[in-house]
Amino acid sequence: MSVRLPDGLQVLERGWLSSNNIVFHDPEWPTVVDTGYGSQGAQTLALVQAALQGQALRRIVNTHLHSDHVGGNAVLKRHYPSCQILIPPGLQDAVTAWDETRLSYTPTGQHCERFTHDGVLTLHGTVRLGQHDWQVLPAAGHDHDMVMLWCGELGTLISADALWEKGFGIIFSELMGEPGFGRQQATLDLIAQLAPRLVIPGHGAPFTEVESAVRNAQSRIQWLMDDPRRNADNAMKALLAFKLMAHQRLSLAEIAHLFQQSQLFNTVVREHYPQDPAELAARFAVQLEKAGVARREGDDLVLKS
Ligand SMILES: [Zn+2]
Repeated sequence: MSVRLPDGLQVLERGWLSSNNIVFHDPEWPTVVDTGYGSQGAQTLALVQAALQGQALRRIVNTHLHSDHVGGNAVLKRHYPSCQILIPPGLQDAVTAWDETRLSYTPTGQHCERFTHDGVLTLHGTVRLGQHDWQVLPAAGHDHDMVMLWCGELGTLISADALWEKGFGIIFSELMGEPGFGRQQATLDLIAQLAPRLVIPGHGAPFTEVESAVRNAQSRIQWLMDDPRRNADNAMKALLAFKLMAHQRLSLAEIAHLFQQSQLFNTVVREHYPQDPAELAARFAVQLEKAGVARREGDDLVLKS
């Protein structure tokens, strides 16, 4: 079911490997919010070019710095050299130094082409996108440095990974033994207060049934809090599914390497799972098969199309 979007705004709905790209048409400042995953950079560029119909992109705004939201920054900047990149406050030093651990790319085994930023968004400030001012709101939980963009005039929220039609992103900080569930609850409370008529999420289709989505997300966060292992379980499955989407096929040895990387950083994973990465790989390969996401071919796990 497709919903009616505000004029001058276009959602390039991508999927789960790449985040959605939200294009704002404007004679002066054509802008895109979030740029997808690096391996799909050529497709991102082609989609943005088609959307802009010959106009040059002038600005990229990122909701957060996860690889599936900023992976197209470098390729877009190469194609549109005068394009400015604005990132949320918090990790700008990590971007300047390109610290792949703080930027999450090393612990998640994900790839992101290096880019430089031209400016930093101001929390509770506004950014002009198309014909309207959008407020930059904090959206801790999935990523404590993430922001959402809110336009009261349009009753529209760009929610990033704080709220999807069904659920929200993994609460990563909890995997490192730092609080995150409560902060996600606060973000959901903020969304409930705003009472958007339309939400444009980071993944999946835009939706208008916001109240029930928030309600479901709130009960999901409670369910995760009741047993934090559930969050770790989801994280491991999501990590593996993401890697499989990016590569189509992974050997058990490659999966073991991925988990070994993430074990180095994730205290909860160390607590709850076998220490042996090979054992861990075998266990989650079976789980993805059972979920119907992948099938086994000898020592390889293959993404089902
Ligand atoms: Zn994310």
